[in-house]
Amino acid sequence: MHRSLSYDDVLLVPQFSDIKSRSEVDLGSNLTNGLFLDTPIISSPMDTVTEEAMATVMAVEGGCGIIHRYNTIDQQAIMVSNVVQQVSDHVRLNIGAAVGVSGDYIERSAELIKSGVTFLCIDIAHGHHTLMQDALRNIRKMVPDSFHIMAGNVATLQGVTDLADWGATSVRCNIGGGSICSTRIQTGHGLPGLETIFQCSNTDRDVAIIADGGIRNAGDIVKALAAGADAVMCGSLLAGTAEAPGEIFRENGVAWKTYRGMASKEAQIKWRGAYSSFEGVSSRVPYRGHVDMIMADLKQNIKSGFSYSGARNLRQLQTRAIFTQQTSAGTRESGTHINSRKW
Ligand code: IMP
Repeated sequence: MHRSLSYDDVLLVPQFSDIKSRSEVDLGSNLTNGLFLDTPIISSPMDTVTEEAMATVMAVEGGCGIIHRYNTIDQQAIMVSNVVQQVSDHVRLNIGAAVGVSGDYIERSAELIKSGVTFLCIDIAHGHHTLMQDALRNIRKMVPDSFHIMAGNVATLQGVTDLADWGATSVRCNIGGGSICSTRIQTGHGLPGLETIFQCSNTDRDVAIIADGGIRNAGDIVKALAAGADAVMCGSLLAGTAEAPGEIFRENGVAWKTYRGMASKEAQIKWRGAYSSFEGVSSRVPYRGHVDMIMADLKQNIKSGFSYSGARNLRQLQTRAIFTQQTSAGTRESGTHINSRKW
């Protein structure tokens, strides 16, 4: 049986650095086929994370957002074209939109392309699947070879290889690792998130690896990138912001926003009026203000992370990174631990 590691199991070993300022660190990442991110952070295609407002700010901040597909084609296409108006010419326009693998996905893809989307994301829970093969082949026929198509999710190197061969230019990697995900509980399937990245990033195809789900802080982002990801995808980290869809509500003086899995009962009832099997939960996250402030903090912390490995850019980080496995005592020590101390 193979032993698989995840984010809390490892640390990056600090190394000599001659980086005197975080401004010397470049976070840029080339995701192939014209998708270049100044900041390799992508907001998840979920109805409590990415609509127009989130996608606009994420593009301005150098990352990108993927507008979810749990709406009508018109609603989604209008959101895409509104972002294309709002993002100024001075900023790299990266905006994605999600489609499925059945129903209206061909028509939806065509409308989204017309609305100015810069890439499509074929978004299903188990992406290493014959329906994904058909969808990738069909959508690939509609666009030039240079058009970026993200697809997923998969957990294995074989999954990345197959999706790349079917036409994907980036692949979302991780099954069951999301904070609102119950796939591993309901199905017994999955692979720890960081192990997924270690394996998937061994790909010999020209395809970008997106570490999706389970990313809780800047440290996890640095670990995912060091393990070989070209970018990370985040839901919970961005859901508690003004730009995420949904109202702020208060309980006992604390402000919250709803954050839920797209396969949760609640989300299924909202978008298709019923639920069948569910693989996600509905929860809430503390309201944390505007997403540009969250992104500013993340960028500074990620740059510090690069600097601890003596890396000025992503390529250097991936070459220089030395991972070490920590014990449970090490994991405890790695968190702030004053509150659990016995005095
Ligand atoms: P988080 O950043 O840990 O909150 O995880 C977000 C990721 O969870 C998304 O980008 C999706 O890949 C995944 N996800 C979204 N909804 C569901 C669900 O209902 N079940 C399982 N995974 C989900």
